[in-house]
Amino acid sequence: MGSLPRDVTEDMARDAAATNQELVEDEDDLTEDEFLRRQREALTTERAVYMEQARALKAEADSLAQEAEPGDVQFDEESGEGGTTTIDRERDLALSAQALAAVEEIDQALARIDAGTYGICENCRKPIPRARLSALPHARLCIACKSGGLSRR
Ligand SMILES: [Zn+2]
Repeated sequence: MGSLPRDVTEDMARDAAATNQELVEDEDDLTEDEFLRRQREALTTERAVYMEQARALKAEADSLAQEAEPGDVQFDEESGEGGTTTIDRERDLALSAQALAAVEEIDQALARIDAGTYGICENCRKPIPRARLSALPHARLCIACKSGGLSRR
C-alpha cells in the first residue's frame, strides 16, 4: 500500500538518470553504427518538427488569404489593413518555405546516411567531427569550409 509512491519516485529517478546518461554520453565513444543511428533519430525528429512548422505556417497563410475578401482589395492602400494581412501572409509563406528547405536538407542528410557518405565534408572530403554533427545533424560542410573560402551556400 504505502509502497506505491516510493515506486513512482524510484521510476522517476531512474528515468532522470537515464536521460542524464544520454545527454552526457560522449559521441566519440559510440561505434559508427550507433552514432549513425543516433543521427538518424535526431534528423527524423527534427524533420517532423519542421514539417509541422511548415504545415502550420501554410495553414495560417491560407486563413489570412481568406480574411482578405476580394471586395476589400481595392481599399487596401487606403485602410492599410489589407496590406498588413498581405505582409503577414507573405511572412508566413516565407517561413513555411524556409521550414520546407530545412526538411529538404534533412532528407539529403538521411540519404547520405543510406548512401554511406554521411559526415563527409562536401567541399574538402574530410570527415566532419562528430561534435559538429551532433550539434547540427544535417551539416554538409566542415567548420573550416563553412566559415571560410569558397563556400557555395
Ligand atoms: Zn571541409
